[in-house]
Amino acid sequence: MMRCPVCKRQVDLSRANRFRPFCSERCRLTDLGRWAQEGYRVAGEPQSNSESNPASGDESGANGHRSGGNNGSGR
Ligand SMILES: [Zn+2]
Repeated sequence: MMRCPVCKRQVDLSRANRFRPFCSERCRLTDLGRWAQEGYRVAGEPQSNSESNPASGDESGANGHRSGGNNGSGR
């Protein structure tokens, strides 16, 4: 079930609902108003992407080291 992102009520996603994915015209307008204010900020946010790059590389190295140690200490 889809929920209205504005008021969290269940939304009718059938064609009868003109305001999808919102439950009513009021909620649709409310969401549009938010985007008008915050949309410009979110548009320039490519920094969070580069942040996950070093973390993924670190994980790969630790994995390889662990695998080798396990093999050697097999008694
Ligand atoms: Zn709503």
